[in-house]
Amino acid sequence: MMNFNGFVCPDCGHELVSKTELRVSGLFCSHCEWSVVTTYFPETLKDCTKYKIWVESADFKNESQLRVVAKLRGINLLAARDLLKRQERFFVAEGFAQEVLTIQADLLSAQVKISIEPPFPW
Ligand SMILES: [Zn+2]
Repeated sequence: MMNFNGFVCPDCGHELVSKTELRVSGLFCSHCEWSVVTTYFPETLKDCTKYKIWVESADFKNESQLRVVAKLRGINLLAARDLLKRQERFFVAEGFAQEVLTIQADLLSAQVKISIEPPFPW
């Protein structure tokens, strides 16, 4: 085991800083290459809730909105246009937190108004 006191680098004595980057969390020396890291799991990966995503309003004349709805529902653009014309609000996808983040980003970047059930805390 390393003699690690939690505050300074055991190699050079400089201050250690804690950092979290992507899925790695750890302590890094501010001066040399010394570090101790652990794999970090985002809280979203521990969330076992299945979320449902609803489109609240989308414009059937807007092609980027049609594309994202078509992709998520696994239908073609014509079917997506029909769906958007017929229904103001409809179910579009479900998934766990990590997937929902991706889907939500897709929908929001196309400026589709959505809601998530149950309330999505991320
Ligand atoms: Zn050091």
